[in-house]
Amino acid sequence: MAEQLEDTARIARDLIRFDTTNHGEGRSNGETEAAEYLEAELRSMGLAPQLFDAAPGRTSVVARVEGADPSRPALVLHGHTDVVPADPANWTVDPFGGEVRDGLLWGRGAVDMKDMDAMIITALRDIHDAGKRPARDVIVAFFSDEENGGDFGAHHVVDAHPELFAGASEAISEVGGYSIDVAGRRAYLLQTGEKALLWIKLIARGPAAHGSRLVRDNAVTRLAEAVSALGRTDWPIELTGTTDGMLTELARLHGVEPGSVEPDELLRRTGTGAGFLYGALRTTSNPTVLQAGYKHNVVPDRAEALVDIRVLPGEEDRVLAEVQRIVGSDIEIETMHRDVGLENPFSGDLVERMSNALLRADPGAAVLPYLLSGGTDNKALSKLGIAGYGFAPLQLTGDLDFPAMFHGVDERVPLSALTFGRRVLGDLLLDC
Ligand SMILES: [Zn+2]
Repeated sequence: MAEQLEDTARIARDLIRFDTTNHGEGRSNGETEAAEYLEAELRSMGLAPQLFDAAPGRTSVVARVEGADPSRPALVLHGHTDVVPADPANWTVDPFGGEVRDGLLWGRGAVDMKDMDAMIITALRDIHDAGKRPARDVIVAFFSDEENGGDFGAHHVVDAHPELFAGASEAISEVGGYSIDVAGRRAYLLQTGEKALLWIKLIARGPAAHGSRLVRDNAVTRLAEAVSALGRTDWPIELTGTTDGMLTELARLHGVEPGSVEPDELLRRTGTGAGFLYGALRTTSNPTVLQAGYKHNVVPDRAEALVDIRVLPGEEDRVLAEVQRIVGSDIEIETMHRDVGLENPFSGDLVERMSNALLRADPGAAVLPYLLSGGTDNKALSKLGIAGYGFAPLQLTGDLDFPAMFHGVDERVPLSALTFGRRVLGDLLLDC
């Protein structure tokens, strides 16, 4: 007989089975079914969740949980319900099957971030079932459209209904709080900031012509040169307070003098965990989509490329000017989407309490500050002055290449990590 699934794993599995694929550029399968599922879970705890549709099918859910001391600023606890596309041909299992295999839950969203959505529900339910309250008011939100910048999700809800977040000072969400192995020791990456994003389109124009002619000003050739120049740019390392603090801690764990080992080398010694960290030290510029032409023997008059650029907080305009210099003045740059970076100090009451919750569950571990190279819905909440953190606690073993799970093939999460996360998150909510 199949083993009974723990509630967090069961809810995460159910959520994976809703195919909430977000293809970007407004194309999406929609999040309504997942939102209604979560709404029912919240309602069964006696809460009064509200649904918000930014567009047909693009549903977000928000509910307020009264805290033991409602006079204190509220904490926003949020997740997103959409996922990036998964091509079943590349996967070992059905990406939307929610299969349990070898002690892991497999499927698109298993780590990004239906795991945390489920942990939020079970942590709150544990508190509810024990007849307790979180230390302060908690605003629970499950947003749509995070994977395409949140215009149909967090940004919409924050802009249209700011009153929902009245009195909130801080927010907790994804991509942080999980462990990596450093020098044989578990170290948790507590995310206190995230890079800014610039999603740009490069456009090259030239004459349309017969493919047999001599065309020196070919738009495809010029675009290819621009794409390769930008894709190959080696952006210099620039440290912020967060990454400087992280490198100092990593050096300490490795038993070397801070500054005595090159930053990239220090990260390399961190094993698979480094996959999260290289991008935090510098700008990155990855070409992701190419588009040009319609016939083998026709030179098109236009060629386009999408490039995903992530920059350190506050560096957006400086980097955009540098990008124009790299691709050349004859390439048009269109900014499709941009959003701010965030950085909070690795100190203060909530940071201490998050660290302590991890250390209570895993004594002897280390907790490191961490700047996320990607972005989260904390960007949208920052418009209301809410300081966002990444704290989706998972205790992991070093053999799983966890950074590769995000948007990766065969995304999966250990069942034991989900149970750990439920416990740590619940513990934090009682003590924050
Ligand atoms: Zn995510």
